[in-house]
Amino acid sequence: GGSGATQSDLLRARMRLSLQEHLWEFYQNNVNIPTEEQATARRAALDICAELRVFLHAKLPDMPLREMYLSGSLYDDLQVVTADHAQLMVPLILEKNLWSSIPGEDTIMNVPGFWLVRRENLEYFPRNSSYWDRCMVGGYLSPKSVLDVFDKLVSSINWPAIGSVLDYVIRPVVPSETLTLEVQYETNRKLNVDFLPLLVMEDGTSLIAKPHRLAAERHENLWRQSFRVAETARLRALDQEDGGCRCACLKVAKAMCKLNPALNRLNASQLTNAILLLSEKEGDWTQEALADRFLQLLRALVGHLEAGKLPCALSPKVNLFCELTEHEVDELGYTLYCALSDPEGLLRT
Ligand code: GDP
Repeated sequence: GGSGATQSDLLRARMRLSLQEHLWEFYQNNVNIPTEEQATARRAALDICAELRVFLHAKLPDMPLREMYLSGSLYDDLQVVTADHAQLMVPLILEKNLWSSIPGEDTIMNVPGFWLVRRENLEYFPRNSSYWDRCMVGGYLSPKSVLDVFDKLVSSINWPAIGSVLDYVIRPVVPSETLTLEVQYETNRKLNVDFLPLLVMEDGTSLIAKPHRLAAERHENLWRQSFRVAETARLRALDQEDGGCRCACLKVAKAMCKLNPALNRLNASQLTNAILLLSEKEGDWTQEALADRFLQLLRALVGHLEAGKLPCALSPKVNLFCELTEHEVDELGYTLYCALSDPEGLLRT
């Protein structure tokens, strides 16, 4: 009767209390990276960035680039577990009248969130009027071909020499999805620096040269829209308004996915957007509510996986699960579903 319900309520409340303690403990011990470790990693990335700037200015002074810069979770205090990766953004300058962007949903591929960049006015401005015409494939700017340009460049650099000056061991990672340098900056610490060529279109849309994962040949010319700056800013702004725990919740979830092979496929953007969508429905993000919100996040992810769709909070037509195979969706869904009854199992390290 009534007393039974009260007992199970109590039990559930106690479980939540202990999950709450467990989450903050996990946060302190496993998620958070010591300040000193972050600083050393940032320093190593900065040294590499400086070398590349010098090299590019000297060797290819007429390549139309804006200044390269470092970015990623290491710079937003959102990196978890170990300080082991950063992105080197390489913004290309495109002539406005020579290139235009076409949203993926208006192409035969029909993929929102990806874009084609088409060469315009070839009849008045023939091939080679634009520096980047050398990366044109079938009338479109090819991200693959842009990456090849930087790949050649990076392999022509004498990294052992630079490494010995800086006291690092530096080597290009092959094969890699994009273009990556591995920097060993202490005996047991390695940092991967990804090159990420970037286009900022006239309307502010950011496109990055990171290929579609299920890249069939016809996907090869697609540029990926990046929402990272905006989605991270929105998450942080919401936390600032109410002293909330959304960023903490994100970091715990990221660590959980990093430490569990079955969840490796979930990335920061998917988790960030799942939390942004949850924030539209749920108002209480106080530190005391972390366990409740974390469980709710797991439940929401299971729901999105069941639907096979996670809309981007900033552009709902974009499905952030569109690069997962059916099998991966099932496996992720199953793992998270099981975790609902034993969430602490995912926090064991
Ligand atoms: P983390 O790598 O899980 O810690 O998450 P980040 O928030 O640092 O995201 C890095 C990932 O997002 C990389 O895989 C990038 O290729 C991708 N990405 C997409 N857009 C951007 C961008 O504008 N900046 C950076 N740094 N990474 C981006």
